[in-house]
Amino acid sequence: MTDHQTLLRWEKQHTWHPFTPMKPWIAEEHEPLFIVRGEGAWLIDMQGQPYLDGNSSIWTCIHGHGHPYLVEKVCAQAQTLAHSSFLGLTHPGAAELAARLAGLTGLSRVFFSDDGSTAMEVALKMALEYHNHVGEPHRSRFVSFHHAYHGDTAAAASVGMIPKFHQYSPSLRFDVEKVDSLEELEKLPATHTQNLAAIVIEPLIQGVAGMQLWPVGMLKKLRAWCDAHRVLLIADEVMTGFGRTGKMFAYQHEEVLPDFLVLAKGLTGGMMPLAATLTTEKIFEAFLGEPSKAFYYGHSYTANPLGCAAALASLDVFENQKVLERVQVAIQVFHDALERLSRECRYVHEVRRLGLIAGIELARNRSTAERFDARANVGAQVCLAARKHGLLTRPIGDVLVLMPPLCSNPAEILQMVQALALAIREVCDPV
Ligand SMILES: *Cc1c(COP(=O)(O)O)cnc(C)c1O
Repeated sequence: MTDHQTLLRWEKQHTWHPFTPMKPWIAEEHEPLFIVRGEGAWLIDMQGQPYLDGNSSIWTCIHGHGHPYLVEKVCAQAQTLAHSSFLGLTHPGAAELAARLAGLTGLSRVFFSDDGSTAMEVALKMALEYHNHVGEPHRSRFVSFHHAYHGDTAAAASVGMIPKFHQYSPSLRFDVEKVDSLEELEKLPATHTQNLAAIVIEPLIQGVAGMQLWPVGMLKKLRAWCDAHRVLLIADEVMTGFGRTGKMFAYQHEEVLPDFLVLAKGLTGGMMPLAATLTTEKIFEAFLGEPSKAFYYGHSYTANPLGCAAALASLDVFENQKVLERVQVAIQVFHDALERLSRECRYVHEVRRLGLIAGIELARNRSTAERFDARANVGAQVCLAARKHGLLTRPIGDVLVLMPPLCSNPAEILQMVQALALAIREVCDPV
């Protein structure tokens, strides 16, 4: 491998990172971590230092890094066929994966793309075109929730509600109806609701908002509202899909079925970029008519065979290793450890958790909820300090995110929480 100094120079002179203020990144004193290997819940840097992957590599990793079965299946696929087009051709992996996803969800049609954002674009475009094809072209607007995040491509960003991400490029976004809650949605006048194509939600928990939980039963009521107003329900399960919440998909906690299910991050077990937008036969049939009603959308790597092989292998592991049963133990250990952290650490204002997802909100004074000065970047400082205790994760403001890979054993989960506890004390005591 090229030596560390040369890589560091290339890194600082030529790369540009997502969601990253680059001035401190390229500063002389900054030492970025070069990750070179992954094993189970661990990532290993160039110096051979191991770290627990506390956010599952930005919420993607399910069965652990370098899982031998996933690696074997992807390598075998690479030796047979790495890619061919899904335009006018198909391949066995895509057909099987579509059938298995349909079987898992009850949504019979699967449209593949590459990332959460593109899978959202697909759902939004399909919703609009569906209403057009069934003779209701006036249904052309979307509703979404405050603080929602649905990805970074233009339409996905338009239904997202994190102003900081868009302040200097507002013309890339279209106008969307925003509501705070189900109650606010229910108050929308008919003049608004009759023009709605679809509502978008991160079911049960909003991720980028800082792991904010919806009230129990909210999704079920939302489904009923959508039915009553003939508005399509788009469930963005890019974060919550594939066992994260303790069930295969979050919507299954409330026994509803969305009109669109958007899947990405964990779809391949965290191995390859692949996404899927699932929908019903009713939506699909509206596109059958004349050829002009075809769904004119797609990407070069749509249904990439390597991605499909990884996703199929991941589903095999879910079945063969009884992952959903086994993860209940990990979830219990995780919740108990977080409970202790919340009791014992005086800077923990609130812990919001669901399955193997946690947002740990820090405050200077937990009883008055007095915040730290935003300029102190306490969340980021804590995550940096946690590296010394063998944990990698990223904060959202002063909310620390912990999202262990589903394969993490109890000792690894305890170590993740313990690393944060130590890091919080080191950073917050002097502030
Ligand atoms: C990450 C995420 C997205 C965007 O997915 P990408 O693969 O990063 O494009 C969309 N929605 C939710 C809920 C996410 O967590």
